[in-house]
Amino acid sequence: MNIFDLTFEQLTDYLLSIQQKKYRSTQIWEFLYRHRVQSFSEMYTLGAPLIATLEANFTIDYLQPLKTLTDSDGTIKILYQLNDQQKIECVVLNNAYGYSLCVSTQVGCNMGCIFCASGQHKKIRDLQSGEMVSQILSSQKHLNIDIRSVVIMGIGEPFDNYQNVLNFIKIINQPKGLEIGIRHITISTCGIIPKIKQFMQENLQVNLAISLHASDDKTRTYLMKINQAYPFLDLIASIKEYLDFTKRRVTIEYILIDHVNDQEEDAHRLINLFKNLNVYFNLIPYNPVTGVNLHPSTRETRQNFFNILKKAGIDVTIRNPQGENIEAACGQLRIKNL
Ligand code: SF4
Repeated sequence: MNIFDLTFEQLTDYLLSIQQKKYRSTQIWEFLYRHRVQSFSEMYTLGAPLIATLEANFTIDYLQPLKTLTDSDGTIKILYQLNDQQKIECVVLNNAYGYSLCVSTQVGCNMGCIFCASGQHKKIRDLQSGEMVSQILSSQKHLNIDIRSVVIMGIGEPFDNYQNVLNFIKIINQPKGLEIGIRHITISTCGIIPKIKQFMQENLQVNLAISLHASDDKTRTYLMKINQAYPFLDLIASIKEYLDFTKRRVTIEYILIDHVNDQEEDAHRLINLFKNLNVYFNLIPYNPVTGVNLHPSTRETRQNFFNILKKAGIDVTIRNPQGENIEAACGQLRIKNL
């Protein structure tokens, strides 16, 4: 078993079950996440018998980088190989506040959003928590950087791999280890309403982002198959419920696609739906995907859309195109290397 799959509490329970003292879990945790050792033999303070037991029962699995692409804007995309030869990718963003990692949660994705490269291929399997943790540790080692924030919006739908993602959040937030601040973690969903409600009850301070990408039911069904199961207005109602319950702001992700969802009527419909709600709109230029007949909105259209929302008092930002030259669309690098 990959030791990165364990939460701190699970590691402590395991050590107690083999008659070890509780403080050993802190020692091991610090070796793994602070000193970032890659073999149990480097955990010299544990003593030979415990090291041998750990070696017999666990592995320390870093991921193997197969390809690294760096764009002129600083965005870095890494293609990783997993132990079973499957491939995933993650993206390192160099923001003003430090490095941020976009983490994948599944190999492929069953949600089938038409604008997304990952959605063109079915899910092969869920990632284990440790494989998500390893994306951070491996990227830090590979690029010699420190990652201080995580967005869970790479390949896969996080709420379709709920428990592993929840454990991943607990592991990376643990104060004795990577200590990534809970408010520096964002989880993004395409809108699985029952899981949004379940996540609300977890009472975590994690940021929630909803991939909305449409201002009406018909357009959302065209872009995102999930809308057939969880229709647009039901999703809006669940966002309101989440806002009421958590009192936390929700991010609305909105990819601007030429003449599909970027018209002035769309902006006005969004204003009607979201005015006076504690949401923040993140407008994202569409990154073209090979074989998909969708196109990015023009710069003028993007700016006009932004201006309309802003003028109506909506909290909105517009992202600059990122990683345009490095297969920027989610999952595109993996698909080209299948
Ligand atoms: S956008 Fe997200 S949920 Fe939709 S197909 Fe792509 S990875 Fe899956």
